Amino acid sequence: MIPPPVRWPEKLGRSLLEIIYPRRCLCCGDPLFFRGSLRFPICSSCEEALSPIEAERRCAVCSVPLISELHRCTRCSERCFSFTSNFSLYEYRGPIRKIISQFKFSNRRSLARLIAGLVRPQLEQRYGGMPVIPVPGSRRSVRRRGWDPMPEVARALHRAGGTETPFLLKRRRGGPQKGLHYRERVENIRGTIQLGRPRRTMGKAPARVVLLDDIFTSGATADECTRVLRLAGVREVFVLTLAIEL
Ligand SMILES: [Zn+2]
Ligand SMILES: [Zn+2]
Repeated sequence: MIPPPVRWPEKLGRSLLEIIYPRRCLCCGDPLFFRGSLRFPICSSCEEALSPIEAERRCAVCSVPLISELHRCTRCSERCFSFTSNFSLYEYRGPIRKIISQFKFSNRRSLARLIAGLVRPQLEQRYGGMPVIPVPGSRRSVRRRGWDPMPEVARALHRAGGTETPFLLKRRRGGPQKGLHYRERVENIRGTIQLGRPRRTMGKAPARVVLLDDIFTSGATADECTRVLRLAGVREVFVLTLAIEL
């Protein structure tokens, strides 16, 4: 077999470029100097700090780490959600906060692949084979950005491993949820989520789906999405979020 030709000029060019204009870590901004990769532009110390929640006890509903012997956290013992449970991979701070912010607010659409890569192992281990429904972004932010973050991650999941998204949800006009208390959030989101157009002829709704979002805050948005999904015939909704706000 003839070995592939070594493209020295190309390699040299790339190396020089890396020295003159080093790529920077997505989270701390330090120059990467050949570390990280195009798909994972994160320095080793930020990668180390990007550690999933490892708690012996978590709330059975929202997955927040617990120090008490209780089954549910105080937030969930006061509320009744329609989804079965939420599982969050990280606490919403440090590198994951930066990654989400870069993805959503610095218009780095290509980070959908990186986020899909973080989510995929959990999706396979915990919810193997279930279709994924992404939580839609607010109309205003989608219009401003020109694309919708979580459907973008669902698309990346499909490309990388064939995860199905049988249909999308869409959001009608409504104010942002940020800065509101739980009750205000519930009122604010009510009636703003609708079924979008099916990707293909939908047929029967899947019995169980994973609702995918970036941050779990009060659970109000996930709850409203679940209500719509259940009206569409879905029986059980599991929420999977990148991070939980403590
Ligand atoms: Zn870094
Ligand atoms: Zn909880």
